[in-house]
Amino acid sequence: METEKGLLIVLSGPSGVGKGTVRKAIFSEPDIQFEYSISVTSRKMRPGEVDGVDYFFKTRDEFETMIKNDELLEYTEYVGNYYGTPVDYVKKTLNEGKDVFLEIEVEGAKQVRNKFPDGLFIFLIPPSLSELENRIKTRGTETDDLIRSRMTVAKNELKMMNLYDYVVENDKVEHAVEKIKAIVIAEHCRRNRVEKRFKKILGVD
Ligand code: 5GP
Repeated sequence: METEKGLLIVLSGPSGVGKGTVRKAIFSEPDIQFEYSISVTSRKMRPGEVDGVDYFFKTRDEFETMIKNDELLEYTEYVGNYYGTPVDYVKKTLNEGKDVFLEIEVEGAKQVRNKFPDGLFIFLIPPSLSELENRIKTRGTETDDLIRSRMTVAKNELKMMNLYDYVVENDKVEHAVEKIKAIVIAEHCRRNRVEKRFKKILGVD
């Protein structure tokens, strides 16, 4: 019997929203079934980080060789450093029927969406967006400069949302983790995914 492919789960969101914290909290849960795809980066190792655990740390030259050799599913340059997802690990793990989890910034997520339209794309938003909305609602006409500049940031963040399947507010890390776990469970129960499993019985190829 053909092994059912795993699900590619992509967690992304605007910078500073807490993607890393949420991802670490997810993987510290005892019952997590998905595999974390360790990224490659050209940035310097921070104290406490371990090569091959937090990232695969490479020089810029090494990273550029990986780009040339098509070894990355996606990559981007973010605040002066390269970040990317090794493609072989993702493909191999999905083919083994395991779910793969990526925690990446929005440019990379866009590239993955193009290559894996079937993936599960989750957008993490900051609680400040709801706060902002409430303030606008309760105060009616917001005109001060601070609100106006916060509105511009918020608008840009919200515009990125349209590439994603689900949106999770990171109000509390535990809440975000619970929601993400629930989304993954629901995604596995989606009719078109389940149907694929039963295609022999259903008599379709
Ligand atoms: P940091 O340097 O703080 O570990 O990560 C900076 C940013 O890079 C974070 O937003 C993180 O989500 C993102 N990032 C980490 N790994 C990857 C990757 O493989 N690809 C992309 N596109 N972004 C990544």
